[in-house]
Amino acid sequence: MLPSLFISHGSPMLALTPAPAQDFLRGFGRGLARPKAILVASAHWETAAPLVNAVVRNETIYDFGGFPRALYDLKYNPPGDPALAEHVSDLLAGVGLPSAIDHRRGLDHGAWVPLYLAYPDADIPVLQVSIQSHLGPAHHYQLGEALAPLRDEGVLIIGSGSWTHDLRRFRGQAIDAAQDPRTAAFSAWMEAAMAEGRRCDLLTYRTKAPFAADEHPTEEHLLPLFVAMGAAGAAAKAERIHQSCTYGMLRMDAYAFA
Ligand code: ZN
Repeated sequence: MLPSLFISHGSPMLALTPAPAQDFLRGFGRGLARPKAILVASAHWETAAPLVNAVVRNETIYDFGGFPRALYDLKYNPPGDPALAEHVSDLLAGVGLPSAIDHRRGLDHGAWVPLYLAYPDADIPVLQVSIQSHLGPAHHYQLGEALAPLRDEGVLIIGSGSWTHDLRRFRGQAIDAAQDPRTAAFSAWMEAAMAEGRRCDLLTYRTKAPFAADEHPTEEHLLPLFVAMGAAGAAAKAERIHQSCTYGMLRMDAYAFA
């Protein structure tokens, strides 16, 4: 059975800028069994209630501004899977999470930047489910639990966000700038909680982890972690499959749950 994954997608420039996280993503598709489809819960699709996209072919959404032209020239247009989207919507309804189908939306950069690196052939169907950033970790854990049966069906479930995400502290520092001590302290607490399987602590990280509100002024970039956790189930073990820090405060950690 495929693991579920949490990936930090970082800056959209990850697609173009050499970095340890870019090397990690380039290699990682080769290390997994080929999925039948990929379902991404990205920090960059926030809606009031869950939506699932159902398109024949995904458009590349350039949902960012002020980056070099070369980034807007990249394209990632894998097929969608409308039948699977209906199945996802049914699974959500089955746990009391009504959802709707979006027949137009393609892939935001939280989805396409990592997949452009990991699955460059763009030949595996990709779909997205939106997050509800006002509803917190427990809701996203439940959303993930509803998706768990898909893992038996060969669907790779990815939560795409950021291990830390205080962009207010970005002042043009170098990609390999020294790590902010707050980022290090928050990350160490989270890492220990993950290694020890302290699910309740993780679900209430905001009141327990040091500097939680500094590292995540808003929650949307951490919530995809809980989708991946829920999709793996309570008995799953978390394995850190990547760690690095960019710009001194934007950590790129990734986890597999199996
Ligand atoms: Zn992002």
